[in-house]
Amino acid sequence: IGTPKLAELDPSKLKVTTTKTPRQFQADSSKIEWGKADVSTDHWITAKWSETAGWAAPELKPYGPIDLWPTASCLHYATECFEGMKAYRGFDGSLRIFRPTKNSARMLVSTNRIALPSFSPSALEELIKILLATDGPKWLPERGSFLYIRPTMIGTGGALGVHKPREAMLFIILGQFPVLYGKSLKLLASREDSIRAWPGGFGFAKVGANYGPSLMAQKEAQARGYDQILWLFDKSCQVTEAGASNFFVVWKNKDTGRIELVTAPLDDKVILDGVTRRSVLELAKDRLAVSNGEIQGLDVVERKYTMMDLIDAAKEDRLLEAFAAGTAFFIASVSKIHFRGEDISPKQTNGTYAGILRGWLKAIMFGEEPHEWAVVV
Ligand code: PMP
Repeated sequence: IGTPKLAELDPSKLKVTTTKTPRQFQADSSKIEWGKADVSTDHWITAKWSETAGWAAPELKPYGPIDLWPTASCLHYATECFEGMKAYRGFDGSLRIFRPTKNSARMLVSTNRIALPSFSPSALEELIKILLATDGPKWLPERGSFLYIRPTMIGTGGALGVHKPREAMLFIILGQFPVLYGKSLKLLASREDSIRAWPGGFGFAKVGANYGPSLMAQKEAQARGYDQILWLFDKSCQVTEAGASNFFVVWKNKDTGRIELVTAPLDDKVILDGVTRRSVLELAKDRLAVSNGEIQGLDVVERKYTMMDLIDAAKEDRLLEAFAAGTAFFIASVSKIHFRGEDISPKQTNGTYAGILRGWLKAIMFGEEPHEWAVVV
């Protein structure tokens, strides 16, 4: 007798119960209380997993609370990870998701880092599409708007003890999301006593354990009039990420004088492999490498660089632009960075290259430019 085969996550087994108490849709996007109220849509999808049976049939059901034992693994040992992506209502009326395969694959990287069960990324993608097809018409009616998607996995079960969770739950929720981009960001560089991630750690995974410990620094930044933390690493003050976004600068190389788009590399696994980051790098390599009549071509570089490099560039008038890139803030230009009593600013605080990249990405997301990255639901 061999070991029984564990069931796979299987969207075709989905059980559906629709809501009888619809939730309130906020038509005025400026009034969406993101961060203050629960702005989730009518339905969510859940799927339970156990060590002995594998994945149970997923369920699509009315949005509601979770039943959890107080001894659940996620409440004690941070066995929690999640994804963040958006669905876009195109200007042609179609609903699209942006590079969902990247998010599903990254979710698997995160679950593997914290001993949560594996699953088929394409099954997750399929479940996301089903939920969007259900709630999309009511919750994403307006062309040019978007809805936030939050796939999550938690270790559940009812037994204390530091061990691999024997039970888990995958769920997907959708929520209304305000337009956060448009304004430029002011960043406060992190101090040595507040490090986000380190080699050998878990900065590359989208685990909840990365975010709780960042909140005191974030609170301090806001109290001092800044928007986000610029996360530095090591005594050398390597620049890594900004808030929950990747970070880019455009500068003139000190030695060659060439314009470069620079961002931290993935090598040491201290930063998240952002989907926006990857897309910016790919578009820039593809479309910004050579000058056209209006803009100068640039070199695209993934490499380590430090806060001191940024300060030198600013003092020597070589720091042209800086921007954060991520699902939430999209491409947000940075107007100021504070480090050890000093503020520096890029020359262009509402950047030209950032604006061009933002425009290209938006056109893809909202279906104005047909592109394989935008998957129609
Ligand atoms: N870094 C961190 C720490 C993040 O939480 C995010 C948001 N997912 C990003 C970068 C940007 O990643 P993405 O472009 O995939 O949203």
